[in-house]
Amino acid sequence: MENQIRKIAVIGTGTLGTQIAVQAAHFGCQVAAYDADKESFARSHKDLKSVFDKTSTPPLFTPELWEEEARKVRLCDEMGDAVKDAELVVEAVPEDIELKRKVFSQIDQLAPRDALLATNSSSIPISKIESATNRPEKCLNLHFYFPVLGTNIVDVMGGTKTTEEVLERGKAWVRSIGCIPLTVKKELLGFCFNRVWRAVKREVLHMWANGYVDFRDIDRGWMVFTGMPQGPFGLMDNVGLDVVYDIEMVYYNESKDPKDRPPRALKEKIQRGELGRKTGKGFYTYPNPEYERSDFIK
Ligand code: NAD
Repeated sequence: MENQIRKIAVIGTGTLGTQIAVQAAHFGCQVAAYDADKESFARSHKDLKSVFDKTSTPPLFTPELWEEEARKVRLCDEMGDAVKDAELVVEAVPEDIELKRKVFSQIDQLAPRDALLATNSSSIPISKIESATNRPEKCLNLHFYFPVLGTNIVDVMGGTKTTEEVLERGKAWVRSIGCIPLTVKKELLGFCFNRVWRAVKREVLHMWANGYVDFRDIDRGWMVFTGMPQGPFGLMDNVGLDVVYDIEMVYYNESKDPKDRPPRALKEKIQRGELGRKTGKGFYTYPNPEYERSDFIK
């Protein structure tokens, strides 16, 4: 395809940025990456490999190949070096609007004038970041899912000035790295599929916290119905219950609808340090959660 994006830069190589960089390298992009913490890529890469080694769903490429593809990413000590030739810059720094605006302003000054600038934010619409740059028409949300390897969908959303051409180029690039773009036609908190998943979370948390059903039965139903290896509670444990709570609060703060407020029982779990897989206990206990046992859905 003419005008196809092949040179990309990833800013912030934590959990998501590292996966985006490796995925793009695997699909033939020239990838440069920068992180304020020089150890971040190596650390994230190692943690992710251990997750992929254990995963029961087949990734797009094997853990061995993941190692090899990671070596193709050019790690840079300076942001300017990473973005100097980029056609697209994907920002994946932490979910803090002021930090993202600062990083976007820096990228804007260092990247070529015609480069597209995307944020991987889970909840911040690009309309709240674009004004930190002198190119709002070239800014967009490209929201990847964890793990990028197995969940190859990307929400695509423009801001107040994003052109159709920029959105089309963004979507073409997403397709070129083995992912399916999900287009948001007008600004919506939570984007496309992320909002669907969020509606599921809100409902099941309410059913659990108010004592209607055992959370395991919701997961059993979900696993049989969808064929997935976990249900919503297992998935939330993997994301981290603190992260889930913060995301629910973003929705609640926007709507102020009491139905959107995450249940107190979830907050209490977090206060007890039950954050999910990362602390060994969430809804389930780890490393061998009940839902991974063969008799869980028998
Ligand atoms: P993370 O904490 O794992 O990684 C963030 C990285 O950004 C860190 O390595 C940090 O050193 C780096 N960083 C911080 N400030 C920086 C700066 N000024 N310049 C360059 N690098 C800087 O976070 P993550 O989970 O990868 O999330 C990143 C973004 O992706 C967030 O916006 C988050 O909402 C989004 N996201 C996360 C997930 C997920 O499952 N973790 C899924 C989809 C989207």
